[in-house]
Amino acid sequence: MKQFATLLLTWYKQFGRHLPWRESRDPYRIWISEIILQQTRVEQGMAYYLRFVERFPDVSSLASASMDEVMKFWQGLGYYSRARHLYEAAHAMQGVFPRTYEGVRALSGVGDYTAAAICSFAYDMPYAVVDGNVNRVLTRFFGISTPVDSAAGKREVGQLAQTLLSKEHPADFNQAIMDFGALLCTPRQPRCEDCPLAGGCKALSEQAVESYPVKCHKTKVTDRYFYYIYVRAGVYTFINKRQSDDIWKGLYELPLVESTEPIPVEQLLSSAAFAHWIASGEQPEVRILQQGVKHQLSHRTLHATFIEVVLPEATRSFSACLKVPLAEVETYAVPRLIHAFFEKYL
Ligand code: SF4
Repeated sequence: MKQFATLLLTWYKQFGRHLPWRESRDPYRIWISEIILQQTRVEQGMAYYLRFVERFPDVSSLASASMDEVMKFWQGLGYYSRARHLYEAAHAMQGVFPRTYEGVRALSGVGDYTAAAICSFAYDMPYAVVDGNVNRVLTRFFGISTPVDSAAGKREVGQLAQTLLSKEHPADFNQAIMDFGALLCTPRQPRCEDCPLAGGCKALSEQAVESYPVKCHKTKVTDRYFYYIYVRAGVYTFINKRQSDDIWKGLYELPLVESTEPIPVEQLLSSAAFAHWIASGEQPEVRILQQGVKHQLSHRTLHATFIEVVLPEATRSFSACLKVPLAEVETYAVPRLIHAFFEKYL
C-alpha cells in the first residue's frame, strides 16, 4: 500500500497538471474551482473559473453581488443549482471562509468529496477525496467489484482511499490520484503501457480494465416537450424567470408550455395553456421557427419547439412575464438552449 502512494506521488511530480487553482492555497478559490469541476470538465471549466474569480475575488464580493449577475457568470455551465448554492453559502459565511472540516462540509452545495478536496488542498488536512477518477483507479488497481454506486461500494472505496492517503502530503496525494485517473487510467483505453502501477494492477492482470468500476444503477432519462413562445412586440419580447425546482431555477427563458407528451402545434395553439397568455381581443400572428430541437441533460431529453408570436408593441398579452427590449435580452442569464435560439434569431 505504501508503495502505491510512493509510485503515485513520483508520477505526479513529473506529470501532474498545472491548474490555476492549484497555484493558490486560498480556500475561497479552491472552493469555486471544486464547485465548477463537480459536473464540468477541466478544459471547459477553466475559462469560467478565471472569469468568476476575477469578478468575484473573495467571499464578500460574491455575497454582495446580485443573484442574477452570479447566474449570468454561470451561464452555459449547466447544473445551475451549483451557482445558487455558492451564493447562498457566501452569504452564510459572513465574509470568513470556514477553517474546519465540519464548517466546510456544512456549506450549502458541499458534500464529502468537495469538503475533503477543499480541506486537503487549502489546509493540508488528511481527508481523502473520492470522485469518479479515484473510484476508477482504486477499483481497477485493487480489483474491487462491489458496485461503486452502492452504499457498500462507497464505503469500501472511501475507507481504502483514506488508508492509502499520504498523511504527510494529503493535498499532493489527492491531486495525484485525480490526475492519474484523468490522464492515465482513463475510462476508455487507459494507458496501461505507460503506467507505473501496472505491475500490481489487478484489473490489468485479469485483462479486464474496462470492466471496472462496476455500477449497479443506470440513470433513467425521461423525455420532456418544451414549446417556447418567442413574442415580438415591436422592439420588445417577453421572458420569464424559471421558479420550479427541477431544472434551470433562477434562469430566464421564453414563455413556455411544457408537456410530458409531444403535442401537435395546431392543437397547442388552440389549447387553454396557450390561450391563457393571450389578452382577449388580441389576434397574434403565429409562425413556427424551430421544431424538434433536441437538448440533452443528464436525466432528461428536452424536445423544444420555438413559436414566434407577433403582437403590437403595446400588447396586453403575456403581461405576467417580464417585457424587455430585444436589444437587452442578452444581458439576462439564460439556459444554453435559449442562448442558441437567441444567437440564431436575434
Ligand atoms: S495498469 Fe492500467 S488499469 Fe491498472 S492502474 Fe494502470 S492505467 Fe489503470
